[in-house]
Amino acid sequence: MSTISDRLCELRRQIPSGVALVAVSKFHPVERLMEAYDAGQRLFAENRPQELAAKVPQMPSDVQWHFIGHLQTNKLKLVLPYVSLVQSVDSLHLLEAINRWAFENGRVVDVLLELHLGAEETKQGFSEEEILEILRGEGRGSEPGNLRIRGLMGMATNTDDMAVVEKDFERIETLYRRIKASGMDGFDILSIGMSGDWPLAVRHGATMVRIGTDIFGPREY
Ligand SMILES: *Cc1c(COP(=O)(O)O)cnc(C)c1O
Repeated sequence: MSTISDRLCELRRQIPSGVALVAVSKFHPVERLMEAYDAGQRLFAENRPQELAAKVPQMPSDVQWHFIGHLQTNKLKLVLPYVSLVQSVDSLHLLEAINRWAFENGRVVDVLLELHLGAEETKQGFSEEEILEILRGEGRGSEPGNLRIRGLMGMATNTDDMAVVEKDFERIETLYRRIKASGMDGFDILSIGMSGDWPLAVRHGATMVRIGTDIFGPREY
């Protein structure tokens, strides 16, 4: 059986050097995260505030954390002090709450806007039009002076049909390139691709892939 270290090594060999590898460690115990750390991994992501806040103090301080789950505004203080990027901003309400928290805490918080992809029951994420409106500064009460919108995040439809997944990636890639072409400052992250579909995501311009199962094995719920 291969180890976490073997699997990380193999992934690093395959993923192009300009693409950041985020190790999605949700549901895995800290000992498994430490195996990845010892193999050189420094960038980890969690999707539940409580779990993130519990793991942070147990891991070395040079670990960088991203948040990739649904974030309720009453949980900001469990997440924002610890993360360098919130990848999963999926409502204007959340965006404004993060900005307010950042202002009150003298911080600037980097975020990605999540584009809703696929036809799934989960309605998480913005439409293209909503993202363009946000970037034009419409519908926003306050100046988002303490936020940096660094790019887009998307989760493709959960299916084995790679043609469907590819359509999703094409949609988000098109939007990403359109925004980039408009010259937006510091907008340089396209976070798409997980264990089943990251090679396709890389072909569609991913600058960041979020991989859990292919590193840590199956999650125990
Ligand atoms: C769990 C999760 C991943 C990783 O999924 P794997 O299939 O285990 O690689 C990536 N992105 C998000 C948002 C997730 O919640």
